[in-house]
Amino acid sequence: MDFNLTEAQLALQKKAREFAVKEVLPTSFSYDEHEVMPMKVIEKAWKAGLTNLGVPKEYGGQGYGLMESVIVVEEIAAACPGTATSIFDNDLGSGPIVIGGNEEQKNRVLKDITENFKLIAFATSEPGMGSDVAGMQCRAEKDGKDFILNGTKYWITNAGYSDYITVFATTDPEKKHRGIAGFIVPTDYEGVKTGPHIPKLGQRASNTCSVVLKDVRIPEENVLAKPGRGFLLAMQTFQKTRPAVAAFAVGCARSAMEYAIDYAQKRETFGRPIGNYQGIQFKLAEMYKDIEAARLLTYKAAWEGDQGLDSNLTSSIAKAFASDVVMNVTTEAIQVFGGYGYIRTFPVEKLFRDAKLYQIYEGTSEIQRIVIARFIMKKYQHAMPNLFEIPRVEIQVEKKAEKATIKVEKSSAELGGRWKCLICAYVYDPVNGDPDSGIAPGTPFEDIPDDWFCPVCGSDKSNFAKI
Ligand code: FE
Repeated sequence: MDFNLTEAQLALQKKAREFAVKEVLPTSFSYDEHEVMPMKVIEKAWKAGLTNLGVPKEYGGQGYGLMESVIVVEEIAAACPGTATSIFDNDLGSGPIVIGGNEEQKNRVLKDITENFKLIAFATSEPGMGSDVAGMQCRAEKDGKDFILNGTKYWITNAGYSDYITVFATTDPEKKHRGIAGFIVPTDYEGVKTGPHIPKLGQRASNTCSVVLKDVRIPEENVLAKPGRGFLLAMQTFQKTRPAVAAFAVGCARSAMEYAIDYAQKRETFGRPIGNYQGIQFKLAEMYKDIEAARLLTYKAAWEGDQGLDSNLTSSIAKAFASDVVMNVTTEAIQVFGGYGYIRTFPVEKLFRDAKLYQIYEGTSEIQRIVIARFIMKKYQHAMPNLFEIPRVEIQVEKKAEKATIKVEKSSAELGGRWKCLICAYVYDPVNGDPDSGIAPGTPFEDIPDDWFCPVCGSDKSNFAKI
């Protein structure tokens, strides 16, 4: 086990953090307010080598593992969750090509988006389905070696600014996941039309729109996954991107916590900074511990993916956990700010709005729980014997000889009353005495030797008071 980041990872974290603070944070509030896609910021990220993180080096990408990717996106999201979504969307869009594309497709498309500043979006969701990928209706009809696409995709991040979209469509909706195929769709193809920016609660800097496909002819060279192979390709892509979404949530939560700490140290009530009160300190402690746990889960999911292990379960755990954490943290951050948390001059209001999306996109929190539940009900290997096969062996207990009972004729009151230990609340009753310590029944408390100890907590006689 080693919980330390490597020198290279620390350097990358520093680079991403500096970029986030200098290039992302200052304009993030304005982009959010005007709901404008931060293309200038994304282009700077591309120039700085902070985009196309998971695209292999041979195709011009950064060639980072998931660990490096989550380190980068935590920093960007800490500055602006919406910008982070848009920057990382190239990894979601290019993911199916990296995972399932052939050599020609990789050389042609991946190099085009890495060598030139171009965006690539990812499209599974539709107006009537999101997480239920197998339920998609967008049609792919075979026509010779080509496919003809017809249908509408919805909630497509960056689609309004993308040169390519990886589109998933079905040859037959009745076939569910077995009918799904994947395609590379250049957005300048005839019949491809992107809709206007969809107004959102948060992450407003990130462009989201519909994509209408009308008789779009896809040549064989742009078929990414044949019918029946598309569903798995989409799932493999999500498995790689979910740790990043968890990292977004960690970054967003971290900033909300840090701003809450700053505010708690400055703001005063009743003559003291509110950070001096335990009520506020506990909120901050809760935030810190939850963020730490969310980051560890995120790192574990990323590490498993990098090791070539099946990270489906840990990715779902990390995403579900971190997105709940960020919702709690941003909610509590607003509470620490009080009324000032609710207004737009402070950043926590924006982070709170931005945070909600994490429980929704890339598989809702409910979908993640379905993945986890499926695992525990079917695959989880129990450590303990089955409930109905627990071995039980009775131990032999030696019975203590019964104590001889001495009859005491006087009452407790007549023997000087009962005395209570003020440390542990044990009550000494002179009628019973304390035979285990050699104090005979009938001994008034006053007559007990001074070296006697409370039989329960061991504190001395001076801690007793008459009751
Ligand atoms: Fe005691």
